[in-house]
Amino acid sequence: MLMDRMEQAVAAAQTSKQMGAVLFVDLDNFKQINDARGHTVGDAMLKQVAQRLFSLLRPGDTVARLSGDEFVMLIGHLGTDIEGAGRAALLVAETVRAALEVPYSIQTHLYSSTSSIGITLFPKQAEGTEDLLREADTAMYRAKDMGRNRIRFYEAAMQADVQERLALEQDLKKAAAEGQLAVYVQPQVNALGAVVGGELLMRWNHPERGNVPPSRFIPLAEASGLILRMGDWMIGQACDALAKLQAQGQALSISVNVSERQFRQEDFVERIRNVLAATGAKPELLILEVTESLLIENLDDTIARMTELVQLGVRFSIDDFGTGYSSLAYLKRLPLYELKIDKSFVQDTPGDPNDTAIVQSILAVAGHLKLRVVAEGVETQAQADFLIQSHCECLQGYLFGRPQPLGAWLDKQIGLGT
Ligand code: C2E
Ligand code: CA
Ligand code: CA
Repeated sequence: MLMDRMEQAVAAAQTSKQMGAVLFVDLDNFKQINDARGHTVGDAMLKQVAQRLFSLLRPGDTVARLSGDEFVMLIGHLGTDIEGAGRAALLVAETVRAALEVPYSIQTHLYSSTSSIGITLFPKQAEGTEDLLREADTAMYRAKDMGRNRIRFYEAAMQADVQERLALEQDLKKAAAEGQLAVYVQPQVNALGAVVGGELLMRWNHPERGNVPPSRFIPLAEASGLILRMGDWMIGQACDALAKLQAQGQALSISVNVSERQFRQEDFVERIRNVLAATGAKPELLILEVTESLLIENLDDTIARMTELVQLGVRFSIDDFGTGYSSLAYLKRLPLYELKIDKSFVQDTPGDPNDTAIVQSILAVAGHLKLRVVAEGVETQAQADFLIQSHCECLQGYLFGRPQPLGAWLDKQIGLGT
């Protein structure tokens, strides 16, 4: 049955792109207990192991006993990206390892055992179920070699990567508390080059590693849930900045990136309402940047939530527009204010005819739907000239300013205003 389920799981993973894992679990002390205490005790222990593994299963997953004290767990739906799937598989394996470490009570005696666990992920290039089992088995042996009671991945690179990610995640937990996170801002200008607002970008200055790029730590923060606190903090910073600008009569907008997990928080609308009230920031000047993938997931739910926020006065922007689904159907159903053309298109204008056509098409669609357009990643005057000629209202990129610390930027804006 395990082989059958594995075949189904691999086939399902290939179509759905949802990754899964095979965990090969082997007890470290079974042979001694079985030899010294007899088969009745051994059998009772195997039953308890089976029960513990079974109690950890999620619906749809499988646990099987392969032979002796070898068990295999087949788990699916670990997400579509390999890093996230590796992390999720490791968390399951860690739960299993901890559960099997708890002493076994058999006939009034307590017995202790640990387990060694090998993990391999699927689907991979043209691999059969036999290959997957062999890989997980090989990884389990490596775990034994390293001293038992351990977890190893089949792919060495995966092992290194997952370990590195977990280490970084631990550091990130401390980062916020220890003031290692900073808020930067990148100005946005109009066709005349006047600053009309700015986008807030998070920076992490790690005590040993130096600057860790957001492309590295934001996904970690998302996977671990840390993004919720970090995201709240950024929105608070945005509203504080708006209040300071307002106090000096400066009507600049502030954009802030909102990740999916943050947006889906039960009380997200409430939190925004509270921070607006506490700071007195004008909601019309707060722009929340979300991605297309966030919008598409649970479209009805998204629309309801966005509508509530728009009723507060807050505005929405689609970040990296053009790189995701770019379905025009959803654009008219959502209460949007702005589209941001992804820098990958901007950077090849005006030389590349395809990207030039894409940028012009986005501008045309946005024009019909009455959406503001921000072009990001503008680095050259030629790009800026082309965008302005094509009636793009708002530009952002190194040509006008690199991301800089928020405090200094605010001082400068406020200075200009008075
Ligand atoms: P993004 O929202 O698309 O941000 C724009 C990125 O483009 C920024 O990278 C910015 O520094 C970079 N950039 C701006 N102008 C230019 C240019 O002219 N040329 C080039 N090559 N790049 C330019 P950064 O700061 O590394 O941020 C990367 C991503 O991290 C952001 O992409 C955003 O998705 C995410 N991120 C940053 N801060 C936050 C945050 O507070 N919350 C969340 N959820 N995500 C964030
Ligand atoms: Ca953004
Ligand atoms: Ca972007």
